[in-house]
Amino acid sequence: MSGNHDHSGEHHPEPLSYAEARTKAIESLLIEKGLLSTDAIDARVQAYEQDIGPLNGARVVARAWTDDEYRKRLLKDGTSAIGEMGFFGAQGAEIVVLENTPDVHNVVVCTLCSCYPWPVLGLPPRWYKSDAYRARAVIEPRAVLKEFGLNLDESVEVRVWDSNSDIRYMVLPERPDGTDDLCEDDLVKLVTRDSMIGVAKVKSTAAAM
Ligand code: FE
Repeated sequence: MSGNHDHSGEHHPEPLSYAEARTKAIESLLIEKGLLSTDAIDARVQAYEQDIGPLNGARVVARAWTDDEYRKRLLKDGTSAIGEMGFFGAQGAEIVVLENTPDVHNVVVCTLCSCYPWPVLGLPPRWYKSDAYRARAVIEPRAVLKEFGLNLDESVEVRVWDSNSDIRYMVLPERPDGTDDLCEDDLVKLVTRDSMIGVAKVKSTAAAM
């Protein structure tokens, strides 16, 4: 699919875009010709919604926290470092990973629709696709983050990244204090979807309880 901002496969309350209408037309034609079953399509949607979800992203983050060479590769070329872990596919042609630090907080939005790195985060949450989030994340990011329960110090620089169909962003959140003893598998369990969009921080087990 070409075009600088195609919306294929994403959900919209608005009338169908050209790309969506085309996708639907192709889909029904393939089903009619017996080349594709609705079950196969449903299975694929379910894979993105439930099986992939944000777990792949959490694995990437935990690896970056525990392997500094991997972290460097991830920040330099997100797509290939993510591919190293076996995660790639639709909506993941170019993934750029942004590192949060004590001084810089990155947050991701798609102002035009809902572009999102499917291979690492699955399908976007409903709020990510809302008009309110898409508009306000750019205009008043600190206020939006506050509503998510994230109060950043004024000294922290907030950077907002607008995803599109060519580049999709994922945040590498800060590793929380008090997790030095945790192994990679334990760290995976701490990493939330919201922390990889940049609207939350990762909490240590103690803080989360
Ligand atoms: Fe989009």
